[in-house]
Amino acid sequence: PVQAAAAPAAVSGVDALAGLPTLERFEPLLTERVIAVEKAGRDGCLLVIGVDELRLLRDAAGAPWAERVLAAAAANLRAEIGASTPLARIDADVFGLWLDAPREAGEKLAHRLVQLFDAPLTVDGHALVVPLYIGLALAPEHGGGPRLISRAAAAMQSVRRSGGHGHAVFDSRIDANHNEELLITRELQHAVVKRQLELFFQPRIDATTLQISAVEALLRWRHPTLGLVSPARFIPVAERHGLIETIGGWALDAALRQAAAWRAAGVKLRVAVNISGVQFRRDDFAHRLERGLKAHNVPAEGLLCELTQTAAMENTEATRRAFERLGRLGVEVSIDDFAAGDAGLAALSHQPVRELQIDRATVAALARSHDARAMVESAVRAARELGLRVVAEGIETEAQRDAAVRLGCHQLQGYLIARPMSARAVLLWAANAATTLAQSFPGLKDTLLIAAPPAAAGAAA
Ligand code: C2E
Ligand code: CA
Ligand code: CA
Repeated sequence: PVQAAAAPAAVSGVDALAGLPTLERFEPLLTERVIAVEKAGRDGCLLVIGVDELRLLRDAAGAPWAERVLAAAAANLRAEIGASTPLARIDADVFGLWLDAPREAGEKLAHRLVQLFDAPLTVDGHALVVPLYIGLALAPEHGGGPRLISRAAAAMQSVRRSGGHGHAVFDSRIDANHNEELLITRELQHAVVKRQLELFFQPRIDATTLQISAVEALLRWRHPTLGLVSPARFIPVAERHGLIETIGGWALDAALRQAAAWRAAGVKLRVAVNISGVQFRRDDFAHRLERGLKAHNVPAEGLLCELTQTAAMENTEATRRAFERLGRLGVEVSIDDFAAGDAGLAALSHQPVRELQIDRATVAALARSHDARAMVESAVRAARELGLRVVAEGIETEAQRDAAVRLGCHQLQGYLIARPMSARAVLLWAANAATTLAQSFPGLKDTLLIAAPPAAAGAAA
């Protein structure tokens, strides 16, 4: 049996820490096994097993600790599958497992492993849960060797993308997704140089004064053959393939340039920029931000950084440092897609965090769901105690708007108020906003009488 602690050091083809074969040893073995089952007219399966959270662990505690967790995971896997089943470490956080049995047995094993890892591992006396993502590919049906591995890996990625953990068997739909992802990755690399990216801006208004409190910069990618690709589609791809630095860096720079242009025209709009967790964690993020502000001569209060709740709640050294640096710069942070009630608030009490955005799904449910209203109510109450503003985003109907205002949300954003638009359109919209909003919100005055004035709502720059 492979014992993590007894792993032989530096044997070629054997991973020193997990004590398992590496990809270079596993691949020929896999090819051999696939040929064997094919000859015998039997089936086999490859499981590609991804271990979650290791990147976070690495950030938080350094690589040696993450490696010990991996070694413990490997030992756990080995204990479950027995000594004769081939197991390898094929990538930093990924294991490969060959099973000389058909699909049903493979799925059963995957299910058992996922359940096994629902129980915490004990590493150096610490208990921690390390969820598994498992992708299955079938031999000979899905090919052999490298192709089998990449298909099982694509199935694993599909589990990861779905946001849950568990297992998936490769199918052509996954292949299509995978191919699309490869295409997007390839094309996205040139998007900046080829000037295919644009920013749209969506205004957000103060619920009391109806003044514009900020405009959110939203990326648009116009590709000559793919057409207009949604950021919801290409941002996650950019994050997975190391392109978000370039794309996000471009968006930040373009947003600051636009903010400066508006300022030069006498319009002091605060511009909100979406920051990926990947960007935020980077050591030089605050520095780049500071350089950008200086280069475009935009004061810190002219910018707002939007960070998803998941990214903001990563309790790692890198994240803490980033918050601290932003705090020193005086740049405020808004929490995007806030959805966890007030339970998650304590973890977000970093100095630069000044704002919460109630996510679109909750806002959509406001008019009909008691739970949604209760959630917003408690978020507003908790936010008030912490001195945070609350933004309701994705408002599409008057009923949603009125409910949001009644529940004490300080700012409103959504198609009902304004759609994302070009920078030039923002100026036109702003010029008429006061009148059109007052006209289109005839009931707002009455609602406002009920809403308490937002004491903590900071004015825009
Ligand atoms: P988000 O930050 O939650 O942005 C709001 C999204 O909701 C935008 O979609 C906006 O167009 C849409 N929206 C606004 N009001 C309404 C409404 O009333 N109804 C509905 N159904 N939708 C509404 P968009 O522009 O497609 O962006 C999607 C996501 O892509 C954004 O979600 C954000 O997470 C990400 N994103 C966009 N630009 C950037 C960027 O520059 N950097 C990063 N890292 N992410 C970006
Ligand atoms: Ca946003
Ligand atoms: Ca948002």
